[in-house]
Order: sequence, then C-alpha cells, then structure tokens
Amino acid sequence: MESPPPILPPAVIGILGGGQLGRMLGSAARAMGYRVAILDPDPDCPAAAVADRIVIGSYDDVGAALRLADASDVVTYELEHVAAAVVEAIEPHVAVRPGRGPLLVTQDRLAERAFVEEVGVSVAPWRVVRSVTEAHAAAADLGLPLRLKLPIGGYDGRGQVRIATTAELDDAWERLGQPADAPLLAERELEFEAELSVVVARAADGDVAVFPISRNVHDAGILVETVAPAPIPADVAERVAAIGRSLAAAMDLCGTLTAELFLLPDGTLVVNELAPRVHNSGHWTIEGAATSQFEQHIRAICALGLGSPAALAPTAVVNILGAGPRREARLLGVAPAMADPDVHLHLYDKRRVFERRKMGHLTALGPDVIEALARARAALAALHWADDPTQEDDR
Ligand code: ADP
Ligand code: MG
Repeated sequence: MESPPPILPPAVIGILGGGQLGRMLGSAARAMGYRVAILDPDPDCPAAAVADRIVIGSYDDVGAALRLADASDVVTYELEHVAAAVVEAIEPHVAVRPGRGPLLVTQDRLAERAFVEEVGVSVAPWRVVRSVTEAHAAAADLGLPLRLKLPIGGYDGRGQVRIATTAELDDAWERLGQPADAPLLAERELEFEAELSVVVARAADGDVAVFPISRNVHDAGILVETVAPAPIPADVAERVAAIGRSLAAAMDLCGTLTAELFLLPDGTLVVNELAPRVHNSGHWTIEGAATSQFEQHIRAICALGLGSPAALAPTAVVNILGAGPRREARLLGVAPAMADPDVHLHLYDKRRVFERRKMGHLTALGPDVIEALARARAALAALHWADDPTQEDDR
C-alpha cells in the first residue's frame, strides 16, 4: 500500500474531543513540534492546556467541526462518540484519521458485534432486543446473568445493566430509558479468567505495530488497574495480538485501535469492546514502552513511520478516581505518593471532582508486574480529595 505524504511539524493536528486522551495526544504532538487545535464544548477541558487553539462546540456541531478542519492539517478523534455526520462533513476538507469507517463500526455496539463476528473473532453470545418481551426471550436463549447495554453512548460501565434474574428485566429496561422499539444489546455475562486489552497502531501504508498486551481490572465497569506486559502465556499474547491486527486491517485503520477482550477459563478469547483510538489501558506505554501510545498515534496519522512498541520494564497503572460529592478538585497527599522514585503522576487538571470520575493515573515500574502494582497501589493509598479547596495538605 502506498503511503500518503508525511504531515510535518509545525503542521496543526486537530483533535475532536478535549478530554484526558486529547490532552495526552496533544502533549505528545507538541513534543514533536506540531501545533494542536481542539474541539470541545468546555473551554476549560483537560486538553485546553496543550491546545494552541480551541474551538468551542459539541461533538455533533458540524459548524464548529468545519472551523476545526479549516485550522488543521489532519484531524483525529479522542472519543468514538463524535457524530459520524461531523466526520462526514469535514472529510472533503481535511484528512480525518482514522476516518468515518472505524467510527461507524465502533460507536454502535450492535454494529461492533456484527463487525467483529464478520472478521471471524468471537464475542459473547448476544441478541438485539426491542422490548421487555424480547429481553425475556433472550434471557431464556442466552442464559443468565445477562447484560443489557445501550448501543450508543455508554462508557465506564454507564449505559448498561446487569440482570441476575428475569424478575429484574422490567426494572432494568426502565432504568436504561430507551424509547419504545429502540434496540438494546442483550449479552450473556461471561465468567472470565482475565480481562486483556491490546493497542494496535496501523499506518496508512498498512504497517502495523502491536503494543504488549495489558491485563486490566475493572470495578463496576470502570478501569481501575492495568499491568503490562500481561502475565499470560506467550501463545495467548500472540493470539490477542493477531486479533488486534486482523481487526485493524479489516477496518482499514490509520491510527490506533484498542480491543478489550475476555480470556475464558478454556483459553478462548472473546472481544468485548473496540475503540478506534488510544485508551486508558494503554497509559502504561508513556513510561513503560519505547514509544507511547500517544506518540504512536501521532506518527501513524502523520505518516511518519511507527515507533517501537517494545516494553521497557514491567509496568502498572492505577487510575485516580474521584470520590464524594461534586466539588472543586484539589488532590491531597501528592508529595508522599511521589516519594517512590519509580512512581509517576499524571493528573488531568479537571476542575471539578465527583464520585468515580477519572481524574488522573499513577504509573509504577518494577522488577515484575506484581511489584510494580504494589508500588502504584501504595502511592494511590496516599492520595485523597480535599473536602473543600481550602483544606490543608498536612502530609
Ligand atoms: P464500557 O463502554 O462502559 O467500557 P463494557 O462493555 O466494556 O462497557 O463493560 C465494562 C465492563 O463490564 C467490562 O470491562 C467488564 O468488566 C464488564 N462486562 C461487560 N460486559 C460483560 C460480559 N458480557 N461479561 C462479563 N463482564 C462484562
Ligand atoms: Mg469497556
């Protein structure tokens, strides 16, 4: 495959979305001498600090996206909930990488399931259901427990409900708040041995680099811990990498793709979710790999050639989540948390903290992932959110 001409610094990289992923993408781009333009509804979004220019607008605001396109040499996205119509509208004006195709097959869980199966990769047994009656039939067919998931818009465990008995179905349907006849994904809950993920970078010429596999732990649907390279047999790691490669190739990706998978007790690998972007479970690459996922994404979309994805050390990441009521964010205990020389702090500078909001992460390196994780957890235990911004940090 032919490579498009490289996009060279100081070209402007436009990013749809200004959250923490946009912030880390932007700072990787800036380190390489690129300029950064962001589209986000919030002028104080985490990526604002690394943006040369911010266009204020929602993720479905075509006019704002056209202004971003006008200011950019290439556009990418940091979340898959950008409206496909926005990408369609700007594609005639600027290269969007990855383009609309990867967005369409990953922003809708039903399209995603169909796409993954078409590529020949397993997913959990599933059905489309359009009513409580159909959900009852799905429960009888697939077995319990069941997950009911909104096709579009869910993240961090929001937008899905777990059902242990059919008596809970009516209530669950109500809680998800889908209009009558709108489809939901009903999916069997699987008992997995481990959750794994893989970040794959693919250049426009088809060259692929696969980062070492991560092993992830979620708590009520939100990622809390990652270790990499995952402590799994080499043949499992190779099969995960092969799945990542084939999915990236099938969507003709230019950029990065993350696949979340379940490893079942019998060794089967099942894809749970795809994201056509950098991912929380890839944050370990900032300190733990020769090239970070953020630099890799910039290299891919700018046709620069991919960097080495090799791990430098066993690495662990723990997320710093919000706790308590919504209030001004001020983190206490940073100095003691940083006392370990192998621990690194990443804070996203979100102005407000609330229960379970992703506020930052800690990365620790170690002689093995168990030790790295112990260091990261110890640092996390030193941190807490001030009740109010005037509270003294006495540690
Ligand atoms: P989100 O977009 O919120 O990340 P996911 O579908 O990835 O949605 O679900 C979040 C988490 O919930 C998963 O990482 C996993 O821990 C759990 N989960 C979701 N679906 C299943 C399933 N079918 N079987 C077992 N666990 C599941
Ligand atoms: Mg997920």
